[in-house]
Amino acid sequence: MKGNEIRQMNRTNPLYVVQPSLPPFDEYVKEISSIWSSRWLTNVGDKHRALEQLLKEYLRVEELELFCNGHLALESIIRACKLKGEIITTAFSHASTTHAIERSGLKPVFCDIKLPGCTMDPELIEDLITEETSALLPVHVYGNPCEVEKIQAIADRHGLVVIYDAAHAFGVELEGASLASFGDASMISFHATKAFSTVEGGVICCKDPAITKELKLQNVFGMAGPEKVVSVGGNARMDEFSASMGICNLRHFDQEVDTRRNLAAIYFEELAAIPGVTTFLEREVTGVYKSNFSYMPVLVDCLEYGRMRDQLNDYLASHQIYPRKYFYPSINDFECYRNSVGRDVSVPLSQLAASQVLTLPLHCGMSKDDVLIVCELIRSFGKAS
Ligand SMILES: *Cc1c(COP(=O)(O)O)cnc(C)c1O
Repeated sequence: MKGNEIRQMNRTNPLYVVQPSLPPFDEYVKEISSIWSSRWLTNVGDKHRALEQLLKEYLRVEELELFCNGHLALESIIRACKLKGEIITTAFSHASTTHAIERSGLKPVFCDIKLPGCTMDPELIEDLITEETSALLPVHVYGNPCEVEKIQAIADRHGLVVIYDAAHAFGVELEGASLASFGDASMISFHATKAFSTVEGGVICCKDPAITKELKLQNVFGMAGPEKVVSVGGNARMDEFSASMGICNLRHFDQEVDTRRNLAAIYFEELAAIPGVTTFLEREVTGVYKSNFSYMPVLVDCLEYGRMRDQLNDYLASHQIYPRKYFYPSINDFECYRNSVGRDVSVPLSQLAASQVLTLPLHCGMSKDDVLIVCELIRSFGKAS
């Protein structure tokens, strides 16, 4: 694409980093119509049970519990596993991951990541384990699978629970297995901006039926029966309207992944030719694992590219293209953690990635030309061009 062609491409509609999936309107209306006859709006109705069954089959897991959002799901599994003391996690994630630990009264301990993949570096975990450590909470960030075997081996050696923040990893498979089947438990977010959505929502997939039972009990205020309250539970249940949205969106999920895979392939090809702009999820395309292609993060090395990440971000925004700095700042640099858990931690690669990362628009509302335009803008803005 030539420079004058780019100037002509005055985009009328802005391009955002993601676009929420919605089923055809009539399909959703048809799905929820039975709610009007049953008047069963929440508390594990038909829709909830149907979605639960569909997800068990789709994700190929034995046990799961649905939630009203991913964050409360994470807090609930920490509580259900009765974790205490310290949890080793990553600072390169959504605020939710660390907040879930802190809000549960435990201490987050940050382990640095590996570049360029941005997942927890297993080689660094053991040095951080103390007598207080009860669990590991790594993140399959952008749906990029963590080194699950190494992590499990460490956990087994030290008797630690492994909970994955798999918020981004709906439908991702590793070596033929569902990514949600690794560790003791995995949380997947069904937020509107995630690959699979129930508007707000989330799930915990876990191995131990006793833990699932505890999660379910917690979701009904600890009430084992109408007059029998056995634990101090709460309520973070999914309602029937959200479950209906999930039932509809699941029908279209595979097709959406195919659309995003085709767009991602163009990104990988075009960006490979731009010095200083590194993509790092290619193994998704080469088939090392089955991805959901929900994000297109790049790392911008300003020395090689000739511009700062923030300059590129602003330049794209001036063309109505809105990438996001997923994830910036590194969590240890959050104001709320600076004087406590963030103090004295050494996670240089998490901070480096946070300073370089830009997640480009990738969603089913985009055309191939949209991707080419984004890539051409990135190329022409670099100093090398
Ligand atoms: C979105 C997200 C969450 C929280 O999920 P919600 O459903 O929005 O509560 C947790 N962890 C990560 C990595 C996320 O991206």
